[in-house]
Amino acid sequence: MRLCQFQNRRIGLVQGDTVRDVTACLEELRPQRYPYAHGDALIAALPRLAPLLPQLAAQAAAIPLAQVQLTSPVANPSKIIGAPVNYRRHLEEVRADPALHHRQQIEEIQRIGLFLKATSSLIGPDQPIRIRHPQRRTDHEVELAVIIGTECDRVSPQDALGCVAGYCIGLDITVRGPEERSLRKSLDTYTVLGPWMVTADELGDPADLALSLAVDGELRQSARTSELLLDVPALIALATSFYRLLPGDVILTGTPAGVGPLVAGNHLRATIERIGSMTVAVTAG
Ligand code: MN
Repeated sequence: MRLCQFQNRRIGLVQGDTVRDVTACLEELRPQRYPYAHGDALIAALPRLAPLLPQLAAQAAAIPLAQVQLTSPVANPSKIIGAPVNYRRHLEEVRADPALHHRQQIEEIQRIGLFLKATSSLIGPDQPIRIRHPQRRTDHEVELAVIIGTECDRVSPQDALGCVAGYCIGLDITVRGPEERSLRKSLDTYTVLGPWMVTADELGDPADLALSLAVDGELRQSARTSELLLDVPALIALATSFYRLLPGDVILTGTPAGVGPLVAGNHLRATIERIGSMTVAVTAG
């Protein structure tokens, strides 16, 4: 299944180039009262809701995807986890370029582990990235994004893919500079997820997917997930060796070589094999 969110939190089932409104499935969620549980209630309920969605879709009109405004396919992640320099050629390009490393020693992911991005940075593909510090360099990073489906802790790599609800395209937008990654990557609109979530059963093994990013039609990044230093199971095992993952948590698996600057007016076109493509606008903040 391909599940999207659109307009003002409508839930959609994507079929070809159309979307069917299945928002009525939210009636099946258990009512919550303050203080609300961490995590995404829809993603948590997906195993229960999955049989209902095709039935709701069959009763809904087909809306052309081109006519809807897509928002993030996950509304409420408790954590957005980032994987720093998880492709060998990206590690080499960062170490070689002072504009990227800012005299910081760039360590390998096996040594420095993972970082967190603020969940308030999250938008979908039809919302613009708003450049907040135009006098500084802001870069694009295209990444495979993993959406966790079940609460899990201390997971082995062998069991890790069983915790995944699905996958989408992620953009980990980054201000270059000397500050901690968590600060430079947490600006409002600096995490883009989309265009929809492809469920794990439909996507299959994420181990060798082509991913690419073009800026105004010029190809900047192109790689395969088989080049990841820590693959998806290893990232889930590493994360859960430190903390629980909750339904809706997102792991951005790292970006390949070719990162480069963005300015207001740019349009990003990001593509991942077996997921799809999305175009994201960049505006002044
Ligand atoms: Mn990144």
